[in-house]
Amino acid sequence: MKRCTACILPDTFPGIRFDESGVCQYCLEAGEGNQPFAGESLKDKLETIIRDNRGHGRTYDALVAYSGGKDSTYLIHRLQSAYQLSILAVTFDNGYMSEASFRNMRTVLGRLNVDHLIVRPGQSSMNRIFAQSCGHRMYPDHLTKFGSGICISCIRMVSTMALRVAIEKGIPMVMLGNSPGQMIQSENELIFRDNTIPYALRRRLFKPLVDQLGDERLYDLLMLTREEYKTKPFPYTINPFPILGYDEQLIYREIAALGWSKPTDVDPNSTNCKLNSLGIKKHCETYHFHPYDFEMSMLVRQKIISRDEAIRRVSDPERITEVLAAEVEAALGELVPEW
Ligand SMILES: [Zn+2]
Repeated sequence: MKRCTACILPDTFPGIRFDESGVCQYCLEAGEGNQPFAGESLKDKLETIIRDNRGHGRTYDALVAYSGGKDSTYLIHRLQSAYQLSILAVTFDNGYMSEASFRNMRTVLGRLNVDHLIVRPGQSSMNRIFAQSCGHRMYPDHLTKFGSGICISCIRMVSTMALRVAIEKGIPMVMLGNSPGQMIQSENELIFRDNTIPYALRRRLFKPLVDQLGDERLYDLLMLTREEYKTKPFPYTINPFPILGYDEQLIYREIAALGWSKPTDVDPNSTNCKLNSLGIKKHCETYHFHPYDFEMSMLVRQKIISRDEAIRRVSDPERITEVLAAEVEAALGELVPEW
């Protein structure tokens, strides 16, 4: 496999082009002084929204979608210490999170005195969604460039559950711990109200999946109901890291002081979820590139990690991903479609 000599994008990545020295167009564009979107320009907006939505006699100012991973752990600490927000941590338990992850959550939230709500939809409904998400091209290519089908389904369920709880409890802000590499950075993806996409259009994204499963009720796990989208005022969704800055070494240091330790029972790309491994395996088989290739290449371009480290994360020399994927695949059994 040929990879960009500056980042790590492989020749199997959709639409990739290399110049004569083997540098991809994403690196060339970045090198021509086209700076990536500067999230810092949104700092004033973020602080205004926080100021306007803090207090008011509410029990919670912000809901943090809490996976127990390093980023969302640090986010809770940062929002609490920098902005004195009253936080509700909400964990979407997909049934495949590592035990170490739950230990970390108990330790850290205990230390920070933050309330914790764990939401776990019916496991067999989730299993059907996860297994079918491994099926052939359940999501459009512009999404699978950036992540596996399983991850897309899971992230949609996470944001749906987070918004649903925020709407039920009248919490004005939903905070997500996406790192700068995990998203195309534009203003509308960092701070937004997720009620602007027409309902029918939104359903269309999940139609191939739900049609295969033959159960319309599954839409309610993947997206809000028509009534929920009409909530006023609709909660903000905010991704603070690209705005406030992101330093992986600092994050590890600060959360270690809160009692967080790195789980050893997950693949090198995830600090919190085993299901991710199956997503990676199926994605590689279907598309012949790694679902983390793009995210890692962004981190290399932004000099957050080295190229060698990025290659190590996507090549997984110890084959941890394979072992974990086989475990999860065995658990899902015949639900995983053949094609
Ligand atoms: Zn490149």
